[in-house]
Amino acid sequence: MSQELDTQDTLVRCALPVPLRDYLDYRVPAGMARPEIGYRVLAPVGKRRLVGIVCSHPADSEVSADKIRAIESVLDSEKLIDPQLQALLAWTSAYYQHPPGETFPLALSPRERRGEPPAATGLAGFQLNVRGQGLAPEALARAPKQRAMINALQSGAKSREALLTEGFNAGTIRALLARDLIERVTLQDDQPWLCREPLVANGEQAAAIAAVNQSHGTFHCHLLEGVTGSGKTEVYLQAIAAALATQHQVLVLVPEIGLTPQLLERFHARFNAPVVALHSLLGDTERDRSWQAAREGSAAIVLGTRSAVFAPMARLGLIIVDEEHDVSLSQQDGLRYSARDVAVKRAQLCQCPVLLGSATPSLESMANAESGRYQWHRLTQRAAGALPPSKNLIDIRGLALTAGLSPELEAAVDGTLGRGEQVLLFLNRRGYAPTLLCQDCGWVAECPQCDARQTLHKQPPRLQCHHCANTQPLPRHCPGCRSTRLLSSGLGTEQTEQVLRHRYADVPIHRVDSDTMTGRHAMAMLSREVTQGEACVLLGTQMLTKGHHFPGVTCVGILDADTLLFSPDFRGEERLAQLLTQVGGRAGRAMRPGTVHIQTRHPEHPILATVMNDTWSGISQRLLEQRRRQGLPPRGSLAAVRCDSPKAQEGYTFLETLLLSLAKHPDCRETRVIGPLQAPLARRAGLHRWHLMVIGPSRARVHARVKQIVAAALATRPPAKLRWFVDIDPTEPL
Ligand code: ADP
Ligand code: ZN
Ligand code: ZN
Repeated sequence: MSQELDTQDTLVRCALPVPLRDYLDYRVPAGMARPEIGYRVLAPVGKRRLVGIVCSHPADSEVSADKIRAIESVLDSEKLIDPQLQALLAWTSAYYQHPPGETFPLALSPRERRGEPPAATGLAGFQLNVRGQGLAPEALARAPKQRAMINALQSGAKSREALLTEGFNAGTIRALLARDLIERVTLQDDQPWLCREPLVANGEQAAAIAAVNQSHGTFHCHLLEGVTGSGKTEVYLQAIAAALATQHQVLVLVPEIGLTPQLLERFHARFNAPVVALHSLLGDTERDRSWQAAREGSAAIVLGTRSAVFAPMARLGLIIVDEEHDVSLSQQDGLRYSARDVAVKRAQLCQCPVLLGSATPSLESMANAESGRYQWHRLTQRAAGALPPSKNLIDIRGLALTAGLSPELEAAVDGTLGRGEQVLLFLNRRGYAPTLLCQDCGWVAECPQCDARQTLHKQPPRLQCHHCANTQPLPRHCPGCRSTRLLSSGLGTEQTEQVLRHRYADVPIHRVDSDTMTGRHAMAMLSREVTQGEACVLLGTQMLTKGHHFPGVTCVGILDADTLLFSPDFRGEERLAQLLTQVGGRAGRAMRPGTVHIQTRHPEHPILATVMNDTWSGISQRLLEQRRRQGLPPRGSLAAVRCDSPKAQEGYTFLETLLLSLAKHPDCRETRVIGPLQAPLARRAGLHRWHLMVIGPSRARVHARVKQIVAAALATRPPAKLRWFVDIDPTEPL
């Protein structure tokens, strides 16, 4: 055997968790079997040993034979990453021009990244032990929650997730374990996956369900554009049922953790099959276990937020992306990716259908539907016969507002509560007031780390920046002139809540923002309470606009539509129209008709007129026209090379050098590189932010241009504390 052939058999190309732009080559030492693609290895990097993933078996290496290092050990005897997922990760790393070493680990659970074996399989659950079974009915009378859990377990073991979904908390589980009344079990998942009786689909739903089910086993992208309350979830459920019937797993992605409890509940109600959740509030142990259940195929449905798009799944047969337009599906740091776009790619690699659903699909998806690349399904009627809400624009110029409410909106709220119905008020600013200022010298409380004002909070009292973690105590007097005449200006949810509590003392006021909805089950508990139907006011931020279902709400008020009206972002109008349509969709979802009141000081603004009078298809068509004229996505393609640095001008200078180096590539004339530009939030968390914007007629051209910039950046030695990164199809404003 020749020397050459020897090396050929013993090379592995690996992704290691280091910020290098390349894969690293290693030698397999003599006597060790070459690890397969998708295995983990332990390999030396500098003086460290890291967990790497074998990504390919190269024929030869650019590293010379005497320099190439040997792997130390092989950690797996089975592939942790199957070939399709492997291909997805390689595509992701290449498409987003992000280091493979920071991309591949996304397909591993926390313990797997540490080099430990995958978690034990099966779902963690609990059952009554002998003492628990023999417990007298009157026992635990003073611990009603524990009693309720004992009762819930009478019918047999339940998974931890199922118990939490039913509204129990981890404390109750711990208490019963401590009393030695329940025991841990690993639930066997070998029961057949069963589906309970579905609803009778209406014509539009049935057409969408049939189309998705017909494309089973092939790659097809379906866009489900359905007005809020039109029964998109029922379409998901019936498409899932068909996939489960052939023992295929389903991956369901949602933008917010807050949406998982409601969906979990509906999945549990419909399917007798294991469902696992994957999101950032899970502890590592739970995440490890869910991950392995997904990989093995014992989890029928995997419901997760964006990073779950990389979860390994043995028998993936359908991907659903709910609220596909939502920016929270995009990761905004590290690897900047869109989980929706990765999901579409994954479906293509797995040859399975993908179903994107929204009441307000992104313009990207609408364009794909119009061009016929996606199959377009529309649900134009509210399911169960509910009427669409009526819309009312309130011109608040010159009006005296109480806690942000005009007299007209106040009267509507009074009337609604008087009829025993529910009100939803939308104000996209948490805290008490967005500004604290000095009446004597004009000082304004600003974040020391960001080019942004600090928000005044009263519960607990503090000044807080909403762009970084910076929090400061409330000043007693002005740091500029020592005056004590400090004044808050503007309105946040805390303040409105206070006024509403005073005014409607006998009605529950629920504030829904990231300050109040902290626990993992907070949203589920709230929606359970609100679904009871008693009169109440829901007051909240963005959080309220997502797919939550509040059937009793008949009056929706948007306190300030203008905050998004003049956004610097070219997607500003799209976002505003989505927001107004989504919030509006919360009104009158059950049998009673609802009204949406939109308060504005710019009633003549064309986008408001469009939102008032048109459906989403009409609105998006107008916006798409605009984008076409401007050559902006989805017409053209867009990318950014961003740069953060603690020094004000460093990023500018660095990016300018890169820009100059592009002169030697005259071949991409149709793409334009604009900048260096300052980010709209020019300084965040102490870092000055600059970027180059790359814009062109096609993805391929823009990506090629970005590659040249990356090559130039790699050939340059940036200042020590400067960080640069690529942002393909950016969602953050440019
Ligand atoms: P969406 O997800 O589009 O906002 P949902 O799926 O939550 O809408 O449906 C809204 C309501 O209509 C739910 O209460 C649901 O049970 C009901 N519903 C959906 N489809 C049907 C149907 N075919 N027949 C009767 N009720 C339905
Ligand atoms: Zn002052
Ligand atoms: Zn800040």
